[in-house]
Amino acid sequence: MLLRRMAAALISAVAFVSVLVAGSAPASAAPRILYYDTSQAQEFAAVWTQGAQIWNSRAANVRLQPVTAGRTPNIRIYADNGWPRAQTTSLGNGRVWMGREAINDGYYPPRIAAHELGHILGLPDRRTGLCADLMSGSNAPTSCTNSNPNARELAQVDANFRTSVVTVTPRTYVWQPAA
Ligand SMILES: [Zn+2]
Repeated sequence: MLLRRMAAALISAVAFVSVLVAGSAPASAAPRILYYDTSQAQEFAAVWTQGAQIWNSRAANVRLQPVTAGRTPNIRIYADNGWPRAQTTSLGNGRVWMGREAINDGYYPPRIAAHELGHILGLPDRRTGLCADLMSGSNAPTSCTNSNPNARELAQVDANFRTSVVTVTPRTYVWQPAA
């Protein structure tokens, strides 16, 4: 009985130390997993998957995965007739919309999806007008089909997810172009 109790204590001690080691890793040994839910994305589910893959193929410290049954998604995805937008609650968490207003205007859907996910990953809008900048969003021409983050945007996202101390002020970003 005593032996069994000692064994149990040893097992929990080992488990505790494992948790400590995983939590204190200096650089993310494994990327942070964020689960996204396209069940309400309507006709844009595939576009959001494409947007997620864009980040997955480049970012080292974060990974976007389709939510599995019974798990609460980090990112809820919707569609409506307004402008695309992102509502962030904390780093890696929030809601995004594909808005048909921008689709009708001719903006490139994968660029919109990658851009809105960029907000969830902690990037603000930067209205530079440059197509090379993913976070210039609607400020680049509708002809812009670049859906990839530039080196600076990518570095920022990887920095955001390198530690868990980055706080993001909750806010809503809207794709709407300047009139
Ligand atoms: Zn934006």
